[in-house]
Amino acid sequence: MTEVTAYIAIGANLGQAQRSVQKAMLALGQLPMTRLIRCSSLYRTAPIASDPSGQAGVPGPDYINAVAAIATGLTALELLLHLQALELAAGRERPFPDAPRTLDLDILLYGNARIDSARLVIPHPRMDQRAFVLVPLAEIAPALVSAAQLAAVAQQAIEKLPPAP
Ligand code: ADP
Ligand code: MG
Repeated sequence: MTEVTAYIAIGANLGQAQRSVQKAMLALGQLPMTRLIRCSSLYRTAPIASDPSGQAGVPGPDYINAVAAIATGLTALELLLHLQALELAAGRERPFPDAPRTLDLDILLYGNARIDSARLVIPHPRMDQRAFVLVPLAEIAPALVSAAQLAAVAQQAIEKLPPAP
């Protein structure tokens, strides 16, 4: 089996968000042909628009965010389908863009793959605009995030949470 290292952004801002993120990390490690390699700390961030404006002031509670590294034998599309099943199992609804969500799982990177299809774009097209992606990614894979990338999102507030007891 060929294994690929993939990085998954995890976010939640409804219900028990910290618990949802921790459960999602464990669930990632239980996907078929998949191992969990590393998990970042949990971070707290204010909601922002997902369009290129990235504007603040989007309604909803703060997010809990993290990034996990997995080694997987799934194809990128298979992985996306499994992530969407996990989102659904966590009670995800999509009433409108940027709506608060119980769980959001995005594929940031899938090995060195570059994919640009209707259902899947990798590397994730908005990762460079988001401190809540770049900061946890830099924590677990510092070689993948440059100082310039971090500097570009340095004005976004992000709070690293202490490890769970
Ligand atoms: P967002 O995460 O942008 O707030 P959604 O989670 O509702 O919004 O995802 C919308 C669509 O984005 C999904 O149906 C999926 O097909 C598509 N998509 C494209 N690229 C990716 C990716 N790298 N990871 C996850 N979803 C992606
Ligand atoms: Mg998503």
